[in-house]
Amino acid sequence: MDTLCVVPTRATTRGDDRTPLAGSYDVLICGASFAGLAVARELAGSGADVLIVDRYEIGERQTSACGIPTEWLHRTGLIGAERQRFDSLLIHTPHGERRYRLPWTFSTFDYRELCALLWDQCDARFETAKVNGRAAPANGDGAIAVDTDRGVLSAPLVVDALGWRRVLASGDGYQPPDAPLSRGLEVHPGGSSEELEMIWIDRRYVPAGYGWSFPARDELRIGVGSFDPRFHVRDTTELLAEDLGSERVRYQGNWIPHKLRRATEGGVFFAGDSAGHCLPLTAEGIRTALYFGVALGHELRGVYEGGQDRERAAARYAEFNDSHEWKFRWMLRMQRLVPRIPPRLLGPLIRLLGNRRFVAWSFNHYLAIAPPPATAPSPQPVRVTV
Ligand SMILES: Cc1cc2nc3c(=O)[nH]c(=O)nc-3n(C[C@H](O)[C@H](O)[C@H](O)COP(=O)(O)OP(=O)(O)OC[C@H]3O[C@@H](n4cnc5c(N)ncnc54)[C@H](O)[C@@H]3O)c2cc1C
Repeated sequence: MDTLCVVPTRATTRGDDRTPLAGSYDVLICGASFAGLAVARELAGSGADVLIVDRYEIGERQTSACGIPTEWLHRTGLIGAERQRFDSLLIHTPHGERRYRLPWTFSTFDYRELCALLWDQCDARFETAKVNGRAAPANGDGAIAVDTDRGVLSAPLVVDALGWRRVLASGDGYQPPDAPLSRGLEVHPGGSSEELEMIWIDRRYVPAGYGWSFPARDELRIGVGSFDPRFHVRDTTELLAEDLGSERVRYQGNWIPHKLRRATEGGVFFAGDSAGHCLPLTAEGIRTALYFGVALGHELRGVYEGGQDRERAAARYAEFNDSHEWKFRWMLRMQRLVPRIPPRLLGPLIRLLGNRRFVAWSFNHYLAIAPPPATAPSPQPVRVTV
């Protein structure tokens, strides 16, 4: 990444402190954020030997503004990580603003706490390791080998939940600025606000995209997302923070995929940003990472428990993924349309669309793209430490 100047504090061991690691597992999950942990959670209690690896400790490095529909936190047993809840959305344009009363609430949460709660629902093992890519398979048993900075790991079932880079794919040159990626950057100043979540559609901050301020109890998450990867968001993220009288501290940013990709490739399963599961227009990718992660975990469980083979699981997961393609395509159409609306029409349009019935209808459809699971989680598995 070129401009997004993220300097994470590392709790993970480095260099010689990283001991060698090699071995075979039933399932290898690469990436321990939303998608990876959701897959591991679905495998809990299956008896499968699951290893999950990430270059950072679980929850060490926040990857987003951490906003999600509240019901997702309830239904996944993660409500303990909630920081603040909103029942409306305040949209600003240069020619007026409008508060949208939402038909459901939206929450901000603490990333570290949410990951810890998700991890409590898993019985997998975890190791810090940087994934470099695929390795040549050691023998002809059909296992997939993965090269890491600590050695080669292999498993018949391998998940890439490593984010937009899709490290375990063939390498098709999918790189910014030519790939369908948005970019987002935010600052995390201290402070609190009772003011509900705010969105800015204002070309002063970004020609195509939006700015936001998400209060999270004792912290604000102020940022700018650009649908155009060529637009550098650093200056205008700072401008928005300045306009809001907030400090420009604790930067966090990344590329954000805005196009669905293949769910499986070369025997590897992809979930979350690695499969382009982030929604276009809103750049909401947490609940979709959880949603597709849960679906994938379910299919992999079927393989481990003997109900289906890997190819069948791949076909079923790919079909599930592809069945959402038209919804992502519609969101992408909206993403392309909004920046074309003349600024002077934005204010009246935002007011017109703020009609209570229309907001309820559109937001309920939006939630239905990746609805929360029907049931709350079963009792937590007991992790056996050796
Ligand atoms: C500024 C910003 C704000 C956002 N705000 C929101 C929001 O409020 N709500 C929302 O729904 N979405 C938001 N998003 C989008 C959301 O962050 C992503 O869609 C979501 O994090 C995807 O989850 P994931 O598990 O697929 O990937 P990630 O959360 O990106 O996790 C990938 C994991 O893989 C690890 N990893 C990566 N490469 C390697 C490697 N080579 N070896 C080992 N480990 C590796 C990383 O350390 C990380 O733990 C935001 C995005 C940005 C950039």
